[in-house]
Amino acid sequence: MAQSGEREKVVRDVQIPEAITVGELANRMAERVADVIKALMRMGVMATQNQTIDADTAELIVTEFGHRVVRVSDADVEHAIDTVPDRPEDLRPRPPIVTIMGHVDHGKTSLLDAIRKTNVAEGEAGGITQHIGAYQVTTESGAVLTFLDTPGHAAFTAMRARGAQVTDIVVLVVAADDSVMPQTVEAINHAKAAGVPLIVAINKIDKPDADPQRVRTELLQHEVVVEKLSGDVQDVEVSAKTGQGLDDLLEAIALQAEILELKANPARAAMGAVIEAKLDVGRGPVATVLVQNGTLRKGDVFVVGEKWGKVRALISDRGETVTEAGPSVPVEVLGLNGTPEAGDVLHVVETEAQAREIAAYRENLAREKRAAAGATATLEQLMARAKADKAVAELPVVVKADVQGSAEAIVQALEKVGNEEVRVRVLHSGVGAITESDVGLAEASKAPVIGFNVRANAPARAAANQKGVEIRYYSIIYDLIDDIKAAASGLLKDEVREKFIGYAKILEVFKVSNVGKVAGCLVTEGVARKSAGVRLLRDNVVVHEGTLKTLQRFKDPVQEVQSGQECGMAFDNYDDIRQGDVIEIFERETVERRL
Ligand code: GDP
Repeated sequence: MAQSGEREKVVRDVQIPEAITVGELANRMAERVADVIKALMRMGVMATQNQTIDADTAELIVTEFGHRVVRVSDADVEHAIDTVPDRPEDLRPRPPIVTIMGHVDHGKTSLLDAIRKTNVAEGEAGGITQHIGAYQVTTESGAVLTFLDTPGHAAFTAMRARGAQVTDIVVLVVAADDSVMPQTVEAINHAKAAGVPLIVAINKIDKPDADPQRVRTELLQHEVVVEKLSGDVQDVEVSAKTGQGLDDLLEAIALQAEILELKANPARAAMGAVIEAKLDVGRGPVATVLVQNGTLRKGDVFVVGEKWGKVRALISDRGETVTEAGPSVPVEVLGLNGTPEAGDVLHVVETEAQAREIAAYRENLAREKRAAAGATATLEQLMARAKADKAVAELPVVVKADVQGSAEAIVQALEKVGNEEVRVRVLHSGVGAITESDVGLAEASKAPVIGFNVRANAPARAAANQKGVEIRYYSIIYDLIDDIKAAASGLLKDEVREKFIGYAKILEVFKVSNVGKVAGCLVTEGVARKSAGVRLLRDNVVVHEGTLKTLQRFKDPVQEVQSGQECGMAFDNYDDIRQGDVIEIFERETVERRL
């Protein structure tokens, strides 16, 4: 199990002001300056130790080195957050945080349910756990494990992107009757990118056509070598249906966790990540927070993303009110002033004033950023944009996804589709099944509804049928984006290109009754064609553009005259032609464009 080596690195909260020198950035990450300069070079930035880089570049570097970014600015209000590193003697072991990933229908949800059920003693708290986005179980040998029960790869990456690395171990579920599929590979890549060790759960082993060996060999192609093939990745055969192998899987996780030597300091101000948040009708804003360090207690004052609050109540995954939650414990937190977003990081601070100040500062920053990005602006700006927008064709869409992270990722990707002529407009994006109201909204704007890992409920399906609203389902983001791109390309106006086909010179001008002036020409280059467009050039200046009324050879109308031949030409609605003028003959072709 060589995986432990990769994880010895300490993940730091690295404060990044608006500008920072390369040397100071290296210092704050406790990385070698040379490594930072190398990483910058890989990004195409040439900078020496004393050179200043901007916050965005610094953030990329910090993320690349696997640390957490904490943006600060001249308003150093954020300093109220305690970021002092823990002393080794204060650290205590903490449970691992486990995320289950894998291809759709391979049994992620079933496995999470089965694990949860086997571990809740009957009678205890009614034997029911409530869904808060994560839960804890105890293995037979007494190890405590924390499971995130929001499977979904996009959520995993989106949380990571927001600076909340909340997974220590990934359980990769592969169905024994289906083997390695695209999202299996995606999951492997996500885990690798995050530097998180894998455990392979070969599921559906109860099925007659189960072929666990095939799973093992196919994983080899993706550099996952399981123990049964003498590799260092644990693999366990399980059945979410019969419960077979579940205990082995839990022990495998516990073993992997021991190797990782996960530690935290329960005696400091709490810090954690939001894994779910919602506005509850009865209880107000509620966030499920996974405590990552310190201990969160009732009465604690905290800031979380752009929101703040004071812990009014903490509720465990068993639905019980608790007074505190230590490292790796998921709890529902009540007492927020608004709903934060999944991936937001919670920090306990000392006073309400500090919390309010930091939240206000962050909100301001976010607003400025949005304004800069053009999301909201002054009235003049809006009007100017509305004017400019007239030329822009829009493809409206409604997006529903299984989790907040996916929805965000899709919206971001869709907003990038387009150019100055067409763009995708996301009318609404949200989490959960496609409802009648989504269909109504889509109908109003003649938009399709896109479901990512979600389906329309029955009334919505009926409404869509009746109103002729298109609903499209996807489970792979790239497919979704490709389709939308193709649809948006359909909105592009065809490009009209001109092709010169010939030149003619006017040798003489005749007046013909009933026709008007006719030019006696010599085609000097290419061909003259009756159907083509013509321009009259006098001393290389265009004096007229139009079409031909007649094209004749001798007295006969013709369609085409070749170079070197003489012909007669008369223009539609134009008479001012003179000897010596040159006629340029061109055709237009339309070319379909793609984004
Ligand atoms: P997810 O999309 O990965 O969350 O997969 P689900 O948990 O929804 O499972 C997909 C389907 O596989 C469901 O119909 C489950 O009942 C079935 N399933 C899951 N695990 C097992 C298993 O161990 N054995 C059998 N026979 N079926 C399973």
